[in-house]
Amino acid sequence: MGFMVVDDSEAIVKLVRFLLELASHEVEVRHSPLQALRDAARLEPDVILLDLMMPELDGFELCKKLREDPRLSGTKIIILSGKAYDFDKRRARQLGADGYIVKPIDPSTFLDDLNAILASKMELTYWGIRGTLPVPGQGSLRYGGNTSCLSIEVEGEPLLILDAGSGIKKLSDDLMSRRKGRLTAKILITHPHWDHINALPFFVPLYVQGNEIEIMGARHGDMNTYKTISAQMDDIYFPVTIREFGARVFFRDLREESFDIGNFGINTMLLSHPGNCLGYRIAYKGASVCYITDNELFREESPSYNPEYNERLADFVKDTDILVADTTYLDEEYASKVGWGHSCVNEVVNLADRAGVKSLHLFHHDPNQDDDAIDRKLDQAKSLLASMGSPVECVCPAEGSSYLLGMELHPGSH
Ligand SMILES: [Zn+2]
Ligand SMILES: [Zn+2]
Repeated sequence: MGFMVVDDSEAIVKLVRFLLELASHEVEVRHSPLQALRDAARLEPDVILLDLMMPELDGFELCKKLREDPRLSGTKIIILSGKAYDFDKRRARQLGADGYIVKPIDPSTFLDDLNAILASKMELTYWGIRGTLPVPGQGSLRYGGNTSCLSIEVEGEPLLILDAGSGIKKLSDDLMSRRKGRLTAKILITHPHWDHINALPFFVPLYVQGNEIEIMGARHGDMNTYKTISAQMDDIYFPVTIREFGARVFFRDLREESFDIGNFGINTMLLSHPGNCLGYRIAYKGASVCYITDNELFREESPSYNPEYNERLADFVKDTDILVADTTYLDEEYASKVGWGHSCVNEVVNLADRAGVKSLHLFHHDPNQDDDAIDRKLDQAKSLLASMGSPVECVCPAEGSSYLLGMELHPGSH
């Protein structure tokens, strides 16, 4: 790849050039921003790395001017700066920068950070994969025992959190240990059943001044999102009220709608479950994740079977990269659980195949299932897909696992 490094510090230029050339990239250096502006359009580098504090033209001004040039529309711009303020990071984004790396440069992580920005990948991480109740003990050591919580992270974007079951405690610990600076997060709640909200009070960033957190969910008649969240932290239910939040916390009621969070595009759809329960489709630069829990897909012979709903849902999740789907029951378990608001393997597999999703993630396991039962569920899903000749890939994510979405999918570990 062709890089242009714009920095007036010789030491930084030397280090960056060394690291980039080590990875077989071509490097042009400009010490002056005006020179960089003159030459960038001619050289059309793949990536421009620029400092913020420079004479003649500061990095923001240079970034803005580079972005105005249509010849550089395919060029990524990454700010390299000693300023770690959120304000500067936001400003860089507003002016068209694709990423921000804080100096001093750590040679052991620089190329990874750079690659993460260039790939613009979404990282989906599972912090809790169970439904209904946390399940501690020997039977849940492999898949984990916490209830629903996922995060979606993209460098430079607000952190997205899906549901606040007991898994959110682990996410909280992770954020508190690795994050420096302020956190901007959006918590998207599917519905206020306990396994999706009851650990929210243990999400420590809510109590940290300077953080900005918005909690979103569906309205339930008179009960808006503010009331559903504050009620569980009130009076005899919990000793700490939402008045003790130190962060700036906002609440937003959602219905079936489309909106943006930073560069994420979000779509919502009401699901088949007691009360209002929202499914989410989250898209980022061509990749998408659909989070469809809790949701009951009735069998064709059931009086509640609704082909129109199934059709709408298939459209909603169509062609997505990852469909996270409520697959609470093995097929043989479902017969005694009809009308409980959750799905069995067969129906979920049909949905995934029909909608042409790339990867189906089985989610929201019944508390009576141990790891071996979840293995059986996965086997059941895989053999059904194989018998249908379906190209859908199926996995059963464990707590702590993460998946990168972008050009290609591959699981990692957190
Ligand atoms: Zn649930
Ligand atoms: Zn529920």
